[in-house]
Amino acid sequence: MRSTVAAEQHNVAKTMRAWEVAAPAPIADHPLRLVERAVPEPGPGEVRIRVVVCGVCRTDLHLAEGDLPPRRAGTVPGHEVVGHVDKLGEGSSRFVTGERVGAAWLASACGVCEYCLSGRENLCLAPRFTGWDIDGGFAEYMVADERFIYRLPAGFDDEAVAPLLCAGIIGYRALARSEIPAGGRLGLYGFGGSAHLTAQVALAQGGTVHVITRSDEDQALARELSVTANTRSDGEEFLATADRIGIRPTTRPYVFEDVDKALYDLAYDRFSGAAVILTNR
Ligand SMILES: [Zn+2]
Ligand SMILES: [Zn+2]
Repeated sequence: MRSTVAAEQHNVAKTMRAWEVAAPAPIADHPLRLVERAVPEPGPGEVRIRVVVCGVCRTDLHLAEGDLPPRRAGTVPGHEVVGHVDKLGEGSSRFVTGERVGAAWLASACGVCEYCLSGRENLCLAPRFTGWDIDGGFAEYMVADERFIYRLPAGFDDEAVAPLLCAGIIGYRALARSEIPAGGRLGLYGFGGSAHLTAQVALAQGGTVHVITRSDEDQALARELSVTANTRSDGEEFLATADRIGIRPTTRPYVFEDVDKALYDLAYDRFSGAAVILTNR
């Protein structure tokens, strides 16, 4: 036992690699850079996550290119984060070290505004977002508020569950809000990370899916930001549904060194399904 503990302690390095937004620019101009940073320490109520896989979402591309203005310098994008709790901050007790968790777009909500108090934290007046307000998962470690991360269904491996954490939750929320009846028709714009997962939920409910392709980026972004924010209960419900109906994401893996290539390929529609970054494996 002693040697195991020693080995684990030895494995936590003092520095880590992370991809940060150096200066927002078109993805072809390499706005992201790979840097060496101190491994972050979890604060009160937070946990540190050793990242295993991080999905790539179009919002990460918008951050890199400046369509979403940076809120702080050197932000690390990535908000479909799968990893293992590696250190507990003061007062953190929801998870134990080693437990597999997922971090998603909503990093925290204020908990006191009228929206938070009425179960609509997706509309919170002072939300924080992973990979925008706080550093996200395109890094070897990140820290997260333990109240806003998820336990993940055991039926999914790390690579398969990552895209569920944003693309899946967004699609699920949009589908639920569209109120199409069981057996109804669903029109999906494009067939990217979110749509290919939403289609599986709709089909499992007996619906018919029509895929409509177009390439209007502005409308796509607007649509994303109207539905991007979601609540923790959307996430919990979707993960349970995905597990029950056996959603099978189509993933396109990239090694950690190729985060910018993954974003480039996303920008130019060079793959179908969902790109995932394999970080610590
Ligand atoms: Zn996203
Ligand atoms: Zn709030």
